[in-house]
Order: sequence, then structure tokens, then C-alpha cells
Amino acid sequence: MRFRSARRFSRGLRFRLTASYAVFFAVVLIAVAVLSKGRLESSLDDQTRLTVEQQWAAMKGYLRIQGDRQPRWFFDRNDPDESYIVEQIRRVYMLASADGAPLQWSTVYREDLGFDSPADIRRVLASGRPSWALRQDRRKQPYLIRAGLVYDEEHRRPYYVAIGRSLAPNRAIVRGYTWIFAGIIPLGIFCGSLMGWVAAGRALAPVKEVARAAQRISGSNLSLRIPSREAGDELDYLIETFNRMIERLERNFQQIRQFSTDVSHELRTPITAIRGQLEVALFNAQNTEQYREAALNALQDTERLSQIVRALLLLSRAESGQLALQRARLDVAAVVRDVVEQFGIPAEAAGVRLSTSLPSHCEVTADRVQIERMVANLLSNAVKYTPSGGEVRVSLRRMPPWIELAVEDTGCGIPPQHLPHIFERFHRVPESASQPNREKGLGLGLSFVSWIAKAHGGSVQVASVPGRGSRFSVLLPAPAALSQTAAAQPAAKR
Ligand code: ADP
Repeated sequence: MRFRSARRFSRGLRFRLTASYAVFFAVVLIAVAVLSKGRLESSLDDQTRLTVEQQWAAMKGYLRIQGDRQPRWFFDRNDPDESYIVEQIRRVYMLASADGAPLQWSTVYREDLGFDSPADIRRVLASGRPSWALRQDRRKQPYLIRAGLVYDEEHRRPYYVAIGRSLAPNRAIVRGYTWIFAGIIPLGIFCGSLMGWVAAGRALAPVKEVARAAQRISGSNLSLRIPSREAGDELDYLIETFNRMIERLERNFQQIRQFSTDVSHELRTPITAIRGQLEVALFNAQNTEQYREAALNALQDTERLSQIVRALLLLSRAESGQLALQRARLDVAAVVRDVVEQFGIPAEAAGVRLSTSLPSHCEVTADRVQIERMVANLLSNAVKYTPSGGEVRVSLRRMPPWIELAVEDTGCGIPPQHLPHIFERFHRVPESASQPNREKGLGLGLSFVSWIAKAHGGSVQVASVPGRGSRFSVLLPAPAALSQTAAAQPAAKR
């Protein structure tokens, strides 16, 4: 259990941010320490080299070798400066003849470093150039040695001279510096991690608040929103996106709730009517004629009931993607002509004049059955909602990249407040006084029209003036444009 909570902790964002801070600080501090240690060491050694170079120059002023091979140091012993300089030079030095025999030396050189070998001495003399060497004494202390030649005054014979300085003080400074860093690095990492922990905690605190607010939102209180922090940062953007998602969910929930209410209402009406008819038959009917009438009414209501159920099933299959379109190349002008022909008799009976404006041929890639259903639904509405003496006109025209199918009528029109909802399931405009006896629809026909248009990559729009008429316009992609329809689809249309 403890192991699992430790694992969850180590996977937490706060822990990971802090660990990143710690690693970052460690890498930066170690890199700075290593680089500056190297730099310090080399600049201290450069300084020592310069000092040795100066001592070499000074040495040439004080040292004289005469014919008797006896090197002598000429300086004013009463002058403290001169005494000091010569003393410094003679701390680490050796003088040898050209064959490598030591003539004069300091104790350090003989006892700790050891004389330079005759071979080395000969090599330096032969080269005629100064040589630099890094040597270690018995105690492993480093020394910087500069060797070269000087000449005796009389015969101009070369002699070997080596002077040097201990690098131990430099190494001690570098060691001290290393110790300082050894203390500073862990302290730096600790402070960095602490800062990281606090900063990550602060940055993530609003995330917890957002999570708590999100937890309060459930199916029953989808109206809640996560309050914006007004900081305009990434988190506010996340909150805004989240709130928009909740808004969409709320709308969908409301639609589903409304739909369930509508379905129960729609089913209850014919069921109540059937029940009433059966009660009449059972308790009030006196003769065969009255039985027959009650049974006939009940049958009509049953038919309406099964119509609703069939339509609902079809619509839900369509909207859930289970109704696959059987797309094929078809002449939509011929399809429209056929459907219009079928409506000839009902239109005549309603006293509505039906006219068309169709090209002789117009190809689309579509599902014939669904296109027929769409045209039939639009036409049946147009005839149903147009009073006697009115006119319904069906037209088809190319509007690249679309093909427009329009059904216009001079009927009762749709009040503007109903227009945005006209394609929703079960939405019906309440009966007006001017249309008292019209046949009661299911309120599903336009939902089908909208689904069929969208399923073909198109859209449907409506324009209507109450009392003057309506115009339904369906845009279907023309065959050549089919591949681009997704990008070109008009926005905000049903
Ligand atoms: P219904 O079966 O009720 O006709 P629809 O979904 O086809 O269902 O239509 C929804 C509502 O839209 C109708 O109840 C009607 O009020 C309105 N409507 C549809 N078409 C027309 C039209 N051409 N003229 C006037 N109103 C219409």
C-alpha cells in the first residue's frame, strides 16, 4: 500500500517538476565547478610560469661564471630587495657543467627533486633553447622547472642552469576551491529543489481547484461551470475549453431529456385514444355499427403509433450511423420528376398547383431511396401547409460546387421563432386559426431531411415569411466536388 502511494507520489507532476529542477541545478553547478576549477588551475600555473620567467631574467643579472668554473652570485647583501630576489631564485636551482656534473644547487633540488640527469642536461644544451618541465619531488609535490644555458664570461662556454617554483600553493588554492564547491553544490541542489517544489506547488494548486470543481459537475447539475481565474494563462484556456465541453454536454443532455419527454408524449396520445375507443366498444357500443366504428378508430390510432415507432427507429438508426447509404450515380432530376408525379393527385385534391423547373439531366452520387424520401417529405409538407389556390414549385439547379434542390410554396409560412428548431425531432408549429383542420404530422419529417442532406455531405436551409410561404433549399455536392465537400461545406446550416 505504502509502495503504491510512493509510486503515485513519484509519478506526480509536482515531484517530476521538482526532480527536473534538482537535476538541472546539479548539472549546471557541477559544470560551472569543473570549468572554473580548470580555469583557476591554469591561470595560477600561468602566473607561476611568468614568475619563473622573471626570476630567470633576474638570475642572469646576478650570476657570473668565470674561467675557474666557479659560479658566483653578485649582489649587494645589504640591499634587502636584492637579497630577497636572489634568495627566491636560489630556493630551487641547480647549476651544472656542459658534461652534466652538478656545480651548485639548492637543498630542495638535491634532496627532494634529485639532480637532472646528464643526458637531459646535454639535450637542453644541445637544443640551445629554454626547456620547461613539470616535476614531482619525493612527497609528490609538483614543481615547475625552467632550464637553459648561461655562458662563462671568459671562454663563452655553456653551462646548464635550472630554476623552478613549487606548484603546491596553487594546488592548495584549487583544493580549497573544490571543497567550497563540494559544500555549495548539495546546498544549491537542495535550495533549487525546494524552490522547484514550492513553485510547482503554486503552479499546480489551481489544477487541483479545477479538478475539485469538475468533480462537483455530474449529470444532474450540468449547469455548473468552473470559474475562470481571469489570469489569461494556459489554465484559463483549459477551463474555458472544459466549460465549453460541459455546455455541449448540457445541450445534448437537454436534447435527450426533451426527446424522451416528446416520445412518451407522442406515444401516450394514440395509446390513450386506443384505450378510449376500446372502452367505448366495451361499455357503450349498442350495435355492430358502433363496434365497427370504435374498432376502426382504434386501428387508425394503432397505425399512427406504429408509424411513430417505425420513424423513430429509422431516425435513431440513421443518426447512430447504422443506416449505411447505398450511394450510386443517379439522375436526381429524374428522381425529383417521379416524386413530383406521385404528388400530382394529392396536390390536385388540396387545390394546390404543382410546378417544376428541372434540367433534363442532373447527376449526383447519392442513395436513391433516401433522396426520394427527402424530396417526398419536403413536398408533402409544402402541399400540407399550403391552402387551396396556392402553389408549390420544385426546382433543381447547378451552383458549383453544389446542386441546389429547392421546394417553394405560397403556404402559411413558419413564424421566425420556430425557424431555428424546425429540424429538431417532434418540433411542430402549433396549429393556427388559419390552418385548423390540417392533418397532424409527427414532427419527424424535417429531421429526416436534415440527416439525409448531411449524410450526403450537404446541408439544408429554410427561409420563410409567415402568411406568404416558405422555401426549403437542399445543397448536395456536385460529383466533381465530392472530394472537397468537407472543406467547402457551408457553415451554420442545418
Ligand atoms: P410534420 O410531420 O409535423 O410535418 P416536419 O418535421 O416535417 O413534421 O415539420 C415540422 C414542422 O415544421 C411542421 O409541424 C410545420 O409546422 C412546419 N413546416 C414544415 N414544412 C412547412 C411548410 N412548407 N410550410 C409551413 N410550415 C412547415
